[in-house]
Amino acid sequence: LKVPDQPIIPFIEGDGIGKDITTASQKVLDAAVAKAYGSKRKLEWKEVLAGGKAFNSTGEYLPEKTLEAFREYLVGIKGPLETPVGGGIRSLNVALRQTLDLYVCLRPVRWFKGVPSPIRYPSMVDMHIFRENTEDIYAGIEFQSGEEKTEKFLDFLVNEMGITTQIRFPENSSFGVKPISKDGSERLIRAAIQYAIDRRLPSVTLVHKGNIMKFTEGAFKNWGYDLAETEFANQVFTWRQYQQIESEKGQLDAQKALEQAKKEDKVIVKDVITDAFLQDSLLHPYDHSVIATMNLNGDYVSDQLAAMVGGIGISPGANINYQSGFAIFEATHGTAPNIAGTGKANPSSLILSGVMMLEYLGWHEAAEHVFDAMEHTFAKRRVTSDLHAMMESSTLLSTTEFADEIIRNIH
Ligand code: NAD
Repeated sequence: LKVPDQPIIPFIEGDGIGKDITTASQKVLDAAVAKAYGSKRKLEWKEVLAGGKAFNSTGEYLPEKTLEAFREYLVGIKGPLETPVGGGIRSLNVALRQTLDLYVCLRPVRWFKGVPSPIRYPSMVDMHIFRENTEDIYAGIEFQSGEEKTEKFLDFLVNEMGITTQIRFPENSSFGVKPISKDGSERLIRAAIQYAIDRRLPSVTLVHKGNIMKFTEGAFKNWGYDLAETEFANQVFTWRQYQQIESEKGQLDAQKALEQAKKEDKVIVKDVITDAFLQDSLLHPYDHSVIATMNLNGDYVSDQLAAMVGGIGISPGANINYQSGFAIFEATHGTAPNIAGTGKANPSSLILSGVMMLEYLGWHEAAEHVFDAMEHTFAKRRVTSDLHAMMESSTLLSTTEFADEIIRNIH
């Protein structure tokens, strides 16, 4: 990515607590950039509208001008957006991801010392979720019970496709369509494997429910293995290759497969069924470093893993198209209308998304400044109300005070 010294960064403030956390996180990121590069580099913030603020001033929730700004400047950041009720819009976030074809939702999961965690060894958690962002049941192809087109769809299934035996179709049924493509799966898995190689992470786990949904989730797994074994033949060793070598000799051993990959200085690519993964990631989080999965699984997995390290309030995220370079970094939580404007919002998710953005721009020194300062702030147990309630002998800070504390630690 060619980045000017003063890149224009379009930002969506967001609804609810959006204003609180956006103001706080911009202050922190600006301080880190100034500390790292003096006056040589600077983020030029440019507000673009979406959500309630956009609707009030333009009559549209996601104006074309906003999309144009993200297309023009490539890299942007956003606060949470309320999903409008009615008006034919399912979700502004989904619309944004689909319009800009941001096919990767990347969520790193790392623990900060001092933050309460439900697991015994949170310091061993270092996971990176690659969630496919444009396909799956999220495509919004649904047929509602009682509508004429639903009846037609049912008629098509039963009379044209001859699907009568496996499922009962009572009256008043609703349907959803789950598109999973080879191209869509491959570009997501390619990005996940490359990420593991670049960061020298030991494994990529393909999470799927292919035992049940064979032609969609099962295909995702098979396409993933095919891609890994051809495009990355010299850099990865797959569980499928190990199975082919070892299956005749007796019991398969995941540990041995990992050792074999390590010996050859390769990343192991393996697969796990979603339900087993949800259990295994809690019991053995260190067995999974990069996780590649489809949209709906990715949604569930992201929140479960976030809970292991303190919840969505401190989990960052990014939506990226690695081919065009478009990237929008975002808070992973919602608009929290119950605490908007009260000073209770935790800005960490958006600040850490900002850290991901700095890394994406190649501004690693600034990213490290923020990360280290946050680590220090949490270690001193100075936190916002969501964490204060769970952390013994912690000091309660407002959103602004928390941001100021991080800035003090940067200096
Ligand atoms: P939510 O994440 O807004 O709130 C869930 C709970 O977590 C609430 O108790 C809230 O107070 C708390 N919380 C969330 N973020 C917090 C933070 N930073 N600091 C402290 N506490 C925090 O989820 P919800 O209530 O289900 O959704 C509210 C709205 O947000 C809905 O309109 C939903 O569609 C939207 N939403 C948007 C996004 C997004 O923009 N990426 C994501 C999820 C939900």
